[in-house]
Amino acid sequence: SIDISKAVQAVKWDEKGLVPAIAQDAESGEVLMLAYMNQEALKKTLTEGKACYFSRSRSQLWVKGETSGHYQEVVDIRFDCDRDTILLKVKQSGMACHENYYSCFHYLPGSETCSGEPDTKPPVSLGRTLEMLAEVIKQRNIERPEGAYTTYLFTKGIDKILKKVGEECAEVIIAAKNDSLSEIRYEASDLLYHLLVLLEDRNVPLTEIAEELNARRK
Ligand code: AMP
Ligand code: ZN
Ligand code: ZN
Ligand code: ZN
Repeated sequence: SIDISKAVQAVKWDEKGLVPAIAQDAESGEVLMLAYMNQEALKKTLTEGKACYFSRSRSQLWVKGETSGHYQEVVDIRFDCDRDTILLKVKQSGMACHENYYSCFHYLPGSETCSGEPDTKPPVSLGRTLEMLAEVIKQRNIERPEGAYTTYLFTKGIDKILKKVGEECAEVIIAAKNDSLSEIRYEASDLLYHLLVLLEDRNVPLTEIAEELNARRK
């Protein structure tokens, strides 16, 4: 756990005793808002696990969400290299912006009004989705819970997994021939899942695949 008084001492507080704090969606990485903290706000954030700032306009401690209900659960906290900025990785409930946008950064430069419709939480990226699914598959491989389809695949072994990957490939081809979005979506998902099972069985981390694909990019 974090030594709170050490953390408070480490920060380079400005002449007003404040430091900027950026809140970022812990899952997608989207930047949500910028606000300021004083020592009390940082202590409260660290002890309670919910983002607390110092409101410069109201000159008071401000637990984000205390009136709107749009709290920020702090998943991780970092200081930058010269300790003059705080990064909060948060689970945002509802909207971060009081103008009813998921992120505060919704103005286009030069325009007076917010652009577009108020957004909701963005969907989780495919990259994160695959990472999380690979994590679940790894757990299944370790724990082998009874009744789980993934357990069945690992128990049957590599030949069964290879057979399934082959079948799902064929199903993707058929779906593409039928030119049906829902069918392609379903079968491509099947294929990706079974491919992840294959990679887990062969002990290939997803980072290897990412490295290979990125190395090909000119
Ligand atoms: P909340 O903390 O969400 O309950 O909002 C309480 C008040 O804090 C709002 O009425 C705004 O004045 C202010 N506020 C909330 N969210 C933000 C934000 N992202 N940026 C600036 N001010 C905010
Ligand atoms: Zn800095
Ligand atoms: Zn805002
Ligand atoms: Zn299928």
